[in-house]
Amino acid sequence: MRVALEAVTKVYDGDVRALDDLSLEIADGEFFALLGPSGCGKTTLLRTIAGLETATSGTVRIGERDVTRLPPGDRDVAMVFQDYALFPHMTVADNIAYPLRLKKVPRAERRAKAAGTAAGLSLGPYLDRRPAQLSGGQQQRVALARAMAARPTVFLLDEPLSNLDARLRLEARTFLKKLQHDLGVTTVFVTHDQAEALALADRIAVMEDGCVRQIGTPREVFQRPANIFVAGFIGSTPMNLLEGECVPGDGDPTSSWTDEIDVAGLRLPVPEEATGLVGPGDKVIAGFRPEYVQEAADGIEGRVEIVENLGTTSLVTLATSGPNVQLTVPEDREPAIGATMRVAPRPGRTLLYRADDGDLIEDY
Ligand code: ADP
Ligand code: MG
Repeated sequence: MRVALEAVTKVYDGDVRALDDLSLEIADGEFFALLGPSGCGKTTLLRTIAGLETATSGTVRIGERDVTRLPPGDRDVAMVFQDYALFPHMTVADNIAYPLRLKKVPRAERRAKAAGTAAGLSLGPYLDRRPAQLSGGQQQRVALARAMAARPTVFLLDEPLSNLDARLRLEARTFLKKLQHDLGVTTVFVTHDQAEALALADRIAVMEDGCVRQIGTPREVFQRPANIFVAGFIGSTPMNLLEGECVPGDGDPTSSWTDEIDVAGLRLPVPEEATGLVGPGDKVIAGFRPEYVQEAADGIEGRVEIVENLGTTSLVTLATSGPNVQLTVPEDREPAIGATMRVAPRPGRTLLYRADDGDLIEDY
């Protein structure tokens, strides 16, 4: 089922504006991630779709139905909570089968379906235990299995992997992606972990302060962050964001056009998509990822301050006469602390943001 929010605002009693005039549309069958820092309104948005919170204003639609004022039970959605909320007196098998019992599925079929879903989440050995006899991670997987077993039309997941240890988390992530793909059920997945959102989602909404800052595919939000907030939030290493100024063209101070930016003494070409949108003297922020920085004879000079091992690459932090610049280097090319390097972004890998509002400068 399609899920659509139109101008949804949620104000909690008093004056906490958790959602601020937020609109978005999730396609039928889509795996959609809500990504943002703690407190940006992700849980509130999910609870508003589920019907556990009522929007202060705006409309929520599931399929063609306006569900804004409907109670949770009439929405045919299943939600997995951060704190899982299992029935303590029931076994794992009965917990998972519970929504099927509500749907009056025959007992044998219920048991088979619960066992199948449990096996997929590595819960097979625990079917006869009670929640208190499981670890936190196991309990969370039971909650996932219970929500899946009912085959809802919309699946709402609030940071379902956050209590799992690193290895299980990767396993559960892969399983979840496969399961969602197989079931084809519309899924809204909340996470503060950008890597998780990039790995799982068909599309991502990046949120800040109750607003959506960008909606796009993982590739779009990674390659073309729409503003410096998204640029700083997405990526396993933060993007370099350096202040600069557009310089007059042809080295003629009176020219009215520009094709270069001065960034800490380094001249970078104005990206094609920003041509004609900036003029001499405009203050901009040049954004480029550490992965796209290379050594260059005419680059920014810096001194190696920190080297962090990332596995196959290392992240190098250079202190320059201006702000720090970060780059990644292959593991066998690690520079020594204190060494001097000259670096520049690879051609075509710089994005230009407006210094005043932080928005990407592009001609569409
Ligand atoms: P997230 O899930 O992204 O961390 P939340 O949706 O939980 O964010 O919270 C968004 C904002 O709303 C925060 O400022 C939070 O303190 C506030 N908030 C959440 N729930 C309530 C509530 N029941 N009453 C008052 N304020 C709330
Ligand atoms: Mg939350």
